[in-house]
Amino acid sequence: AVNHYIEHIEKDTHNAFVEIFYGEARERATVIDQKLRYGTAGKLAGMIIGIKDNLCLKDHHVSAGSKILDGFESLYTATVVERLVKEDAIIIGRLNMDEFAMGSSNTTSYYGPVKNPHNPAMVPGGSSGGSAAAVAAGLCHAALGSDTGGSVRQPAAFCGIYGLKPTYGRLSRYGLIAFASSFDQVGPMTTNLEDMALLMEVMAGKDPMDSTSSSRPVEAFSKALQSEQKFTIGYLAETLNHPGLDPVIRQKTLDTLELLRSQGHSVVEVHMPYLDYLTPIYYIIATAEASSNLARYDGVHFGYRSPNAKTMDEVYTLTRTEGFGTEVKRRIMLGTFVLSSGFYDAYYGRAQRARRLITDTTNELFQLCDFLLTPTTPGTAFPIEKKFDDPTKLYLEDVFTVLANITGIPAISIPAGRHSSGLPIGIQLMAPKYNDFQLFELAAQLRS
Ligand code: GLN
Repeated sequence: AVNHYIEHIEKDTHNAFVEIFYGEARERATVIDQKLRYGTAGKLAGMIIGIKDNLCLKDHHVSAGSKILDGFESLYTATVVERLVKEDAIIIGRLNMDEFAMGSSNTTSYYGPVKNPHNPAMVPGGSSGGSAAAVAAGLCHAALGSDTGGSVRQPAAFCGIYGLKPTYGRLSRYGLIAFASSFDQVGPMTTNLEDMALLMEVMAGKDPMDSTSSSRPVEAFSKALQSEQKFTIGYLAETLNHPGLDPVIRQKTLDTLELLRSQGHSVVEVHMPYLDYLTPIYYIIATAEASSNLARYDGVHFGYRSPNAKTMDEVYTLTRTEGFGTEVKRRIMLGTFVLSSGFYDAYYGRAQRARRLITDTTNELFQLCDFLLTPTTPGTAFPIEKKFDDPTKLYLEDVFTVLANITGIPAISIPAGRHSSGLPIGIQLMAPKYNDFQLFELAAQLRS
């Protein structure tokens, strides 16, 4: 299987991988083969997994899609990756991504844009675009992505696969290069729910290295897939009436609700009156946290250092000027601004209060229903060449996904057929915090 995938990755034209771990993957395969013969192999024996290039693997390069980490090698392995390896998964390589996971198109990577396997002129979504494209193009069994504002779910929807953002704290963030720490969560991307449930069983659970990881017991997510439990599903009216929503995606969402009704679930209309505030709240908090997290790339501690620097000041300024791309710089500027002393309360403080209000409102909605259902994205994959006259227009791509990150709740994107253009469509389910198991229960019932 390793040889099979390596052959495919080498021939691949989507630019999904930035590095293949040739020798190592083959060596591991030999060892696991032996273990299989002796019946000592782990739960994931033979599963071949690609990891987004913001997950650390000891003694391997990691770049977060950025020039600024050029040449940097991880000093330790991310806990989620370590847990996969312990169960005999084979890590096949590093996957392309938007620089520092900032984006929805995978066009800001230092390694160039990723192409959508369903149509190479289109973006795969982002920022985990390499992960989504690799899984959709059959270059690995499964991939890990990271989701700060939708970066697992949106590319999953654009590429026609499953993508899960678990409850904040369900997976360890240790060894995940930080973007916005109060939103970041690693997530599995797969072609099927069985693989996803198994990966979650292996990866979830307390990690002493991440104090925000939960010590709640890990459920047997695979057992959820046989469930016939009936639920109440609330559809967010504001998302279906959203002016930017593609009519075909709207219809698919209505069809999904109809299917759920026909299966005996109750479907109710619910309201999130603050829908249009979610994206601005997300971008204020995410850029604030990013400006702080990215302060560490100073040309001294990690990766790239400008060869043109002559003074200490120049080490900082030239390294950062040359090392970061435009979008990352924009976000550092935005974040620094909203945290600056004169504006802190007007922007950051206010966004945090709004975050509390949104969380309370969402919790109230879960008094009325067990799940929230929305389309994953307002539209399907767009052309790689598409120019946005205003960069914040691309931010609106996240309108349906950021709610789960703002509130910390789990959310999954489920493939829901195709648009008339042939491009995939995704439906999103969200559940109360730590109801990841229930998310699997309902997602399984939506399989056709
Ligand atoms: N598109 C969002 C952003 O650019 C989400 C990114 C993410 O989830 N990593 O911030």
